[in-house]
Amino acid sequence: MAATIIDGKAVAAEVRGRVAEDVKAYADAHDGRVPGLATVLVGDDPASHVYVSNKRKHTEEVGMRSIHRGLDASTSQEELLALVGELNVDEGVDGILVQLPLPDGIDQDAVIAAIDPAKDVDGFHPMNVGRLATGLPSLVPCTPHGCLYLLRQELGSLSGLDAVVVGRSNIVGKPMAQLLLGENCTVTIAHSRTRDLPAVVRRADIVIAAVGRAEMVRGAWIKPGACVIDVGINRVPTEDGKGQLVGDVAYEEAADAASAITPVPGGVGPMTIAMLMRNTLVAAHRRAGLADPEGL
Ligand code: NAP
Repeated sequence: MAATIIDGKAVAAEVRGRVAEDVKAYADAHDGRVPGLATVLVGDDPASHVYVSNKRKHTEEVGMRSIHRGLDASTSQEELLALVGELNVDEGVDGILVQLPLPDGIDQDAVIAAIDPAKDVDGFHPMNVGRLATGLPSLVPCTPHGCLYLLRQELGSLSGLDAVVVGRSNIVGKPMAQLLLGENCTVTIAHSRTRDLPAVVRRADIVIAAVGRAEMVRGAWIKPGACVIDVGINRVPTEDGKGQLVGDVAYEEAADAASAITPVPGGVGPMTIAMLMRNTLVAAHRRAGLADPEGL
């Protein structure tokens, strides 16, 4: 295996450490008030519970205030929209995160659109999506932002590089492509209808896999020396019945060809929460009329 293993866990810890320092500086300048992140969880999906409790734990670890609202699965759309409205006007709340997916019967798009764009730390509000697409300052979705952070650390300037993003979701693929375009990459977005995907991926200096199919991207698809970022998180069965997490890239094979690659777990995953902390800090700065914290 020739590739550098990109240690997302270590980079994420460094980002959270810098956020924690900036939170202290923010509090010193604001009579001890720290940025606040409100998490909203509807229903009892076990995976969502784990994600939200992780986000809350990290929020407190960086010194910010975690505000949590847990609602039961029978909550109506009107009740949820009313809660979002309350959080929008709550001065102690700088970021609002409504954990997705929402139970059937609640219109996810309507809920996202109800969040104040200035507090939309997931970066999913159409206002932030449009601002990212037009190159204006915005709150950027956490997972692709984390991928970009890792790429910049590994490669420095990305200008002129060929990037292939496999996957076109609103949460990962599309914003990832916008971010890479903003870095002056030549970007291809591939998806389930793409013809000859191996040949498309083989052109890439940067491969981002965000598909949700275990080990779909094979080593033979990777151009020698390419940098591979694996967003996928897939649980596959193992003989001991415990199951194992794997990415969308066949890691061992791809690491033979790539110059650098993210592992799963320990690659992109930890960066997502680190960037959520960063977004909450940035939202607090902007809401207070301050410049964005430097270098994050
Ligand atoms: P998604 O909404 O299901 O989108 C998957 C994308 O992959 C779609 O655009 C789909 O194409 C494309 N696709 C599916 N099968 C394909 C194939 N055979 N060939 C080429 N493209 C194909 O998924 P997502 O939310 O973007 O998530 C992708 C993966 O990232 C999942 O494993 C998810 O668990 C993981 N994830 C990880 C993090 C993290 O923090 N690390 C965060 C978010 C997501 P069509 O549009 O044509 O259907």
